[in-house]
Amino acid sequence: MENKKLLGKPVAEKIYLSITEKLQKLHLNSIIPKLSVILIGNDPSSKIYVNSKKKAFTRMKCKSEIHHFDENVLEEHVINLVDNLNSDNTVHGILIQLPLPKHLDSEKIIKKINPKKDVDGFHPENLGNLLQGNPTFIPCTPYGCIEVLKYYNINIKSKHVVIVGRSNIVGKPLFALLSQRFKIGNATVTICHSHTKNLSKYTKMADVLIVAVGKSHLITDNMIKDGVIILDVGINRINDTSQKGYYIVGDVDFDRVVNKASVITPVPGGIGPMTIAMLLYNTVKSAENKFI
Ligand code: NAD
Repeated sequence: MENKKLLGKPVAEKIYLSITEKLQKLHLNSIIPKLSVILIGNDPSSKIYVNSKKKAFTRMKCKSEIHHFDENVLEEHVINLVDNLNSDNTVHGILIQLPLPKHLDSEKIIKKINPKKDVDGFHPENLGNLLQGNPTFIPCTPYGCIEVLKYYNINIKSKHVVIVGRSNIVGKPLFALLSQRFKIGNATVTICHSHTKNLSKYTKMADVLIVAVGKSHLITDNMIKDGVIILDVGINRINDTSQKGYYIVGDVDFDRVVNKASVITPVPGGIGPMTIAMLLYNTVKSAENKFI
């Protein structure tokens, strides 16, 4: 079973190694890549994600700062901060930790980020460039999926990739990337969502199945064909009696599909570490762009 796991950690380490030299050059020129994270409210998962990002940045001798607003913050206060960060020359990346409380319009706030500092790649200008096959900042989780495919020599050219989930941050950018004339691309891509009828009809057709929904055990063994390659992006908390009070699973019922799939990213330890690595990669790229 272990040899079927596409682990994210070695891929992430390769990314960190690849940026070490770039970082040395930047440091020699007194530039330290810096990410500003805007965190709103007290969502426990968001806090964990933000802290993991901070840890990775500190480890790589980059800066990250967290601007923490109260749950009830006014939209104009968040936008004011984004404006200030846009004009702060020491800040190379701005990230709004999603999801935001309901009274805030995330699309409106993201639009205010200077696209050159949009290291999450969610600004409409960056998503538009991506759609046209000319990406600037590739959204971190889809980018992480691409790097996993690359690292494990998984050729998707002419294969049928089925993506389950059509969010702006995972499903849609992945659809745009994998269908392009890129080295990791040229796939035939189907995208499924909450209104897809008979989901298993599509998942069974997948040579490569990528799932990003947020529902544990959504994909089971009777929904896939033998030998499928699976990237499980989902992160779901299951409460238990452990000290932590929960454990994490993906959207795929790992134990039931593992014998049928040829390879699969585990949760945790698959795509998760990649998202953070690609965020650091994009932030270093932003610092380099400014420098060049
Ligand atoms: P989202 O809620 O924005 O989107 C979920 C998508 O799933 C929607 O497009 C919806 O149409 C689709 N969907 C819902 N129910 C469905 C069903 N029964 N069948 C088919 N499609 C269905 O979520 P998101 O932000 O894209 O995140 C998805 C999951 O990925 C979450 O678990 C999230 O925590 C996880 N995630 C993980 C990482 C990572 O680093 N590994 C990064 C981002 C998101």
